[in-house]
Amino acid sequence: MSSIVRTVLGDVDVADLGITYPHEHLILDNALIEAAFPHILLDDAEVTAREVAECRSVGVTAMVDAMPCAAGRDVLRLVEVSRATGVHVIAVTGLHHPRYYGPRHWTARVSAEELGSLFADDVMVGVDEFDYSGPVVRRSPHRAGLIKIATGGEALGPRDELLIEAAAIAHHRSGAPILSHCEHGRGALEQVDALARHGVPADAVLLSHIDKVLDPGYHAAIAATGAWLLFDQPIRHHRNEVGPTTPLIARLVADGHGDRLLVSTDGARRSLWHAYHGAPGLAWLAGEYAEQLRAYGIGAAVVEDLFTRNPASALTLRANGV
Ligand SMILES: [Zn+2]
Repeated sequence: MSSIVRTVLGDVDVADLGITYPHEHLILDNALIEAAFPHILLDDAEVTAREVAECRSVGVTAMVDAMPCAAGRDVLRLVEVSRATGVHVIAVTGLHHPRYYGPRHWTARVSAEELGSLFADDVMVGVDEFDYSGPVVRRSPHRAGLIKIATGGEALGPRDELLIEAAAIAHHRSGAPILSHCEHGRGALEQVDALARHGVPADAVLLSHIDKVLDPGYHAAIAATGAWLLFDQPIRHHRNEVGPTTPLIARLVADGHGDRLLVSTDGARRSLWHAYHGAPGLAWLAGEYAEQLRAYGIGAAVVEDLFTRNPASALTLRANGV
């Protein structure tokens, strides 16, 4: 059986995935986001398709939409975007940080087993058309390919522990890898440790936002675990000739960790999108940023791996779920 990545339009052979952004935001739309975080509201599939098409024009062929359950995800609009652009879209299940739910949300009142079952069904059966936001669950034929977790910082609280246990249950059942949000870049090692206690291997974990912490020692410690280091801050420094992430990547490559590194934009802000009249546009990463990495002395083959081979490998479903 060949290795596959699970997209909203079906399973794709890893060899066919191509240039991949593993942490993006394509649709973000619910009442809480509209009220509390309007700068990240992404509610128009046609506008999103224009931005994604621009990425496609510089060679991008796959993107992960990193919004998990009940926090503004919409699998049907992701399908629309994928069909309109020909770009593979990978949906995620799991949960985001509590600020996207509020303290009395149902997700704060259920067990790890209950959550883990919902996550596993998103991967194995199909994502709920209503995003687990109402009393009716109607499973679409479009499946998630990743399980998201988010913790609050270095020390793990009870909600963090429960979510990690739920994600581990879903991982063991479905084989989907785990995409983590590290608050302010922190908590990566604690997440990898806690997941390992539940039997999840480090190489099934993609750690986001860790280049918010500009400490090479921290990144070396993460690399030593075997987890994926997902650098998603470069676009925020697009005006700099050399932004703070680039030397961190160069150092890890020099230390032999080039095969553990991922890059993406986490570009949820409208101000970063051309389609919303912002700059530099999400296509910047695969275009100008790839060029910056090569100009900094990172070999062309390594840069190619960062955009193609590494994400395909990181997003591969484990045999237990296939
Ligand atoms: Zn994100």
